[in-house]
Amino acid sequence: MQEADMTIIGGGLVGASIAWGLARSGMKPLVLDGSDLDLRASRANFALVWVQGKGLHAPHYALWSDRSAKMWPIMAEALSQDSGIDVGLVQQGAFTFALSDEELESFRVDMECIAAETAGRAPAFEVLTREETRDRVPHLGPDVVGSVYSAADGHVNALRLFHALHIAMDRKGASYRPNHKVNAIQPVANGFILQGDGFSILSRKIVLAAGLDNERLAPMVGLACPLKRSKGQVLVTEKCKPFLPCLSPTIRQTDEGGIMIGDSEETDTSNIATSSDISAVLASRAIRIFPALADLNVVRSWSGFRVKTADGVPIYDQSAYHPGAFLVACHSGVTLAANHSLIVTPQIAASKLGEDLSPFSARRFHAQQIA
Ligand SMILES: Cc1cc2nc3c(=O)[nH]c(=O)nc-3n(C[C@H](O)[C@H](O)[C@H](O)COP(=O)(O)OP(=O)(O)OC[C@H]3O[C@@H](n4cnc5c(N)ncnc54)[C@H](O)[C@@H]3O)c2cc1C
Repeated sequence: MQEADMTIIGGGLVGASIAWGLARSGMKPLVLDGSDLDLRASRANFALVWVQGKGLHAPHYALWSDRSAKMWPIMAEALSQDSGIDVGLVQQGAFTFALSDEELESFRVDMECIAAETAGRAPAFEVLTREETRDRVPHLGPDVVGSVYSAADGHVNALRLFHALHIAMDRKGASYRPNHKVNAIQPVANGFILQGDGFSILSRKIVLAAGLDNERLAPMVGLACPLKRSKGQVLVTEKCKPFLPCLSPTIRQTDEGGIMIGDSEETDTSNIATSSDISAVLASRAIRIFPALADLNVVRSWSGFRVKTADGVPIYDQSAYHPGAFLVACHSGVTLAANHSLIVTPQIAASKLGEDLSPFSARRFHAQQIA
């Protein structure tokens, strides 16, 4: 049987960030990935490096997101060195626009709650009136009643990030095998036997980074990964000259010129197809915020299922029953990529997750069930 020291199951943004981090420290991880028709959040995302509003009632997550956003410039530089690819990181702050007073009030309440829950350690933010917003953002539509601004937020080029991680992990010594879906994991005395169609591999340690399939795989090694359904849809316009004056969580202009419009959430469907009703709502909101968008043609639209845990907060775990089996599952794999490659991987390499990761254990779900 083929043997490996460390195998990462899943080669999406999370698995690739971890494989690259491990390979940078001199390990030679094996990455087993699924195939093109899998549900893959990493090919569907909005590419925000986003902190604003994250971690309501989970202050450790708010601070974890902020930590990653702060580490992103270091990671982007290292990634550029290892892959030769500039992922187009821009971190110049962002506005969340409100289209009603109720919306603005709800944003304000959430942001103040996060500030209080983190004892003021979450990034600073401003709640701006319509006039204050207009002073900073030209060409705003008449329906915008105000906004929340935070300097912590940014974005990247999504596909270049994914490509860069794969090139970098390969150049640093990771082995990547597509079309190697792991069907079963059997813990044995000296590691884990990974079985799929036509292969069987004995690996001393493993990292579950299989996105939505983590829910099925985790119990095979004594872990839990409760996920919830969350589908998001994105529209992209034709390319145009840089004209969007700022970044927002629902509208961004990519470094290649297209405007991305998104942030829908459907929790009641398993159908991956895009919906024209959702597209209409996304487009209408975007045009109310920036009326000039009405002149652009939408050229593409797609949807994807987020890898969203039951409470929306990431899971980082090592199996208590089968040490050497790690689990990483999160929404916000773009935002958290810096933490994954620079902070989580040394802990996995040392076979011990640190205290900073203990609040992210899936044991929190069992505690809630007991309560
Ligand atoms: C519409 C949308 C917008 C988003 N916007 C943002 C954003 O702006 N910012 C942000 O930070 N995040 C965003 N995200 C979330 C981000 O894309 C995800 O957190 C991230 O892609 C998750 O990566 P992953 O590697 O865990 O999962 P995936 O991308 O799903 O990768 C999992 C991989 O595992 C493989 N696999 C599955 N099962 C097995 C198996 N049994 N054996 C081997 N391989 C297997 C699959 O083939 C796949 O390649 C968004 C997501 C969506 C859907």
